[in-house]
Amino acid sequence: MAEFTMELNDEQKEVRDWLHGFAADVIRPAAAEWDEREETPWPVIQEAAKVGIYSLDFYAQQYFDQTGLGIPMAMEELFWGDAGIALSIVGTGLAAVGVLANGTEEQIGTWVPQMYGDANDVKLAAFCSSEPDAGSDVASMRTRAVYDEAKDEWVINGTKTWATNGGIANVHVVVAVVDPELGSRGHASFIVPPNTPGLAQGQKFKKHGIRASHTAEVILDNVRVPGSCLLGGKEKLDERLARARERAKAASGERVKNAAMATFEASRPAVGAMAVGTARAAYEVALDYAMTREQFGRPIIDNQGVAFQLAEMRTQIDAARLLVWRASWMAVNGKPFTAAEGSMSKLFASETAKKVTAQAIQILGGNGYTREYPVERMHRDSAIYTIFEGTSEIQRLVIARTLSGMPIR
Ligand SMILES: Cc1cc2nc3c(=O)[nH]c(=O)nc-3n(C[C@H](O)[C@H](O)[C@H](O)COP(=O)(O)OP(=O)(O)OC[C@H]3O[C@@H](n4cnc5c(N)ncnc54)[C@H](O)[C@@H]3O)c2cc1C
Repeated sequence: MAEFTMELNDEQKEVRDWLHGFAADVIRPAAAEWDEREETPWPVIQEAAKVGIYSLDFYAQQYFDQTGLGIPMAMEELFWGDAGIALSIVGTGLAAVGVLANGTEEQIGTWVPQMYGDANDVKLAAFCSSEPDAGSDVASMRTRAVYDEAKDEWVINGTKTWATNGGIANVHVVVAVVDPELGSRGHASFIVPPNTPGLAQGQKFKKHGIRASHTAEVILDNVRVPGSCLLGGKEKLDERLARARERAKAASGERVKNAAMATFEASRPAVGAMAVGTARAAYEVALDYAMTREQFGRPIIDNQGVAFQLAEMRTQIDAARLLVWRASWMAVNGKPFTAAEGSMSKLFASETAKKVTAQAIQILGGNGYTREYPVERMHRDSAIYTIFEGTSEIQRLVIARTLSGMPIR
């Protein structure tokens, strides 16, 4: 087990500084343009691929970092640059994690490289779980996967929504119901390979923030994938379903649902780290502005009312980072999340980002409200953190249920 330390090691500092340089020199200057265009920033992703930031190697290196700080550190720096562009860069990684965590070695080797492509031919991946009637309530999922034994193929039908990179991805990871009796325990994940007939992009959403990131519906109409595209394989699925059936007999449905929710604990700190990046970016702009903007013959930070806001902002950001780092460290060291510490970190960091970016607008006054300054965009962007990967209400629900063991509604 890696020893606990509050400091990044030399190698991590080097990576952090490299990422920060890319965020400052490449991402930040492009942010306003791609926010206005509301399109996937392909040239920036290509640049990230060229230097090695958009690559399986880089993502895997951070993911398997034994201190647990690789992913949060990378997320914070990239999202400090710009949330929409950074999500376009890391969205593939979020889909790849599904394969790295649940796939066989063969599946990882076959599909994850195709998710990224290479620097000369960049590809994307999408993770499709949410549906129009199944957002927070994952157990209501309707997309169905049925096994065609004669052909050793799965046939998938349904409509997914809100999928980051949905429809423009080379590889889609699709979660579908394989046993409707088991609620969220009866779900399985499938790879939908490039150019599979029946998969199409539906509506592309026009959004409030993170507008450089593509979000769309994905329609699955009699999509046939080979048996080998079931993540983890059929044998493992059958064993898991048999166990779930046994447990469902013994426990109430509510408890089964709780167990499913707990599996998100390890991935939520990464979203918390994205929020920390956006919050830190807005705080830095506000601090700089407060020290240089003069009113009544002195810098506005000379007023306690402004200075205390900045003190509060920085304190909240540092507290958020510590919660994120703790949860990431717990995940990598296999510590049980007995107080839903992963959800705690995501809840606190995402709410902090929304609050801090609003305070930054206030400190910049009229300028903060215009698109001449980046804090307006950062505030719009920050609203996503309290919604995706589980809303703040769902985080509170998970924390409360974990603490109490009660089926709180
Ligand atoms: C930009 C963007 C990108 C996304 N990317 C992806 C992606 O790549 N893949 C993917 O699968 N999904 C993705 N999502 C979907 C996201 O995870 C869902 O939007 C989220 O889980 C919430 O679901 P919902 O939108 O249906 O809201 P709902 O579940 O309908 O919730 C609406 C409101 O009700 C509240 N609420 C619901 N249930 C409860 C309860 N029990 N107690 C208290 N309050 C409750 C919620 O907190 C929320 O405030 C993305 C969403 C967005 C906006």
